[in-house]
Amino acid sequence: MGIKVWNYLAEYDAERADILDAVDTVFRSGQLILGQRVGAFERAFADYHGVPHCAGVDNGTNALVLGLRALGVGRGDEVITVANTAAPTVIAIDAVGAKPVFVDVHPETYLMDVDRIPDVITERTRCLLPVHLYGQCVDLTALTGHASAHGLAVLEDCAQAHGARQRGRLAGTTGDAAAFSFYPTKVLGAYGDAGAVITSTAAVDAALRRLRYYGMEDRYYVEATPGHNSRLDEVHAEILRRKLTRLDDYLSARRAIAARYAEGLAGTGLVLPALADGNDHVYYLYVVRHPQRDRILAELAARDITLNVSYRWPVHTMKGFAHLGHRRGDLPVTERAADEIFSLPMYPTLTKSEQDLVVEALREVLAGL
Ligand SMILES: *Cc1c(COP(=O)(O)O)cnc(C)c1O
Repeated sequence: MGIKVWNYLAEYDAERADILDAVDTVFRSGQLILGQRVGAFERAFADYHGVPHCAGVDNGTNALVLGLRALGVGRGDEVITVANTAAPTVIAIDAVGAKPVFVDVHPETYLMDVDRIPDVITERTRCLLPVHLYGQCVDLTALTGHASAHGLAVLEDCAQAHGARQRGRLAGTTGDAAAFSFYPTKVLGAYGDAGAVITSTAAVDAALRRLRYYGMEDRYYVEATPGHNSRLDEVHAEILRRKLTRLDDYLSARRAIAARYAEGLAGTGLVLPALADGNDHVYYLYVVRHPQRDRILAELAARDITLNVSYRWPVHTMKGFAHLGHRRGDLPVTERAADEIFSLPMYPTLTKSEQDLVVEALREVLAGL
């Protein structure tokens, strides 16, 4: 079998007894929806972050949608974000009727260039939505400075940054709320779809709990619209609660792999990931860069090593977002990076010998270019 950019099977082998016990515990509990396991995971995830509130939801996209709604973002509002992200970041803004407004990114870290935020603020701007891309945080000191100067809400997209820190502070604990995805590939991943929103504001948490549950607080009585069914289910909550106790081990494994890649790939001409000031990276993805990206991907695929590009198409250039009226050239740093970046295999159970195969194949291919 070849090497893939992500693979959970070795982790499942190692954790199988615990995962199956989690499933059995839920199935035998008599409660399948919004029972004790969801509550237990929410408390554990809030405690991990040192915040008072966490609301479990069904996926990361809806964590963003409900997070925006709970912060009062809606029709006619503008939300400032980036175009080099998973499309759901922008889909969520669209889904609440708001307009996504993009700023370009830093050429070395690919993170939101927060200095450009003031250029695009209008009287309709309501919220900043930084994406902690690939596993490290956007400059949150400068970003929150702009937010407070202009009275804007901040929703952090933490789908790629579980456990990441900036100057010691955990991703998701600076903004008014933070949205997480537990899609299986993520740093903390479920065995299916799941998500959560953390916040320090009780009213935001209460709004999230209503929104995910048809707009109800008690059964069968709608307190407010819009409602939605966006519940986290008991099985994923219990699996996530158990995996959360191992999150710091996953982070160490990812960091060790990143360090080994950096050592093995030094001097090859590949541009390696850059760490922004004050950041502890969790390496959700290990993203490198080279002008002959597509040729390198093809040559590695021929050696049964499947790499990936996150993301090949910046959101503002996608047909589905043509209504935003952008054209190529609007975000030059984002667009240039999208043509050259690619991701190496990265997951905690990737073995040293698998890593060595990736490094050797890359060294060989790069030497022959
Ligand atoms: C994965 C991801 C999402 C969406 O999460 P889902 O659980 O797949 O809906 C949103 N934003 C970013 C940055 C992501 O990586």
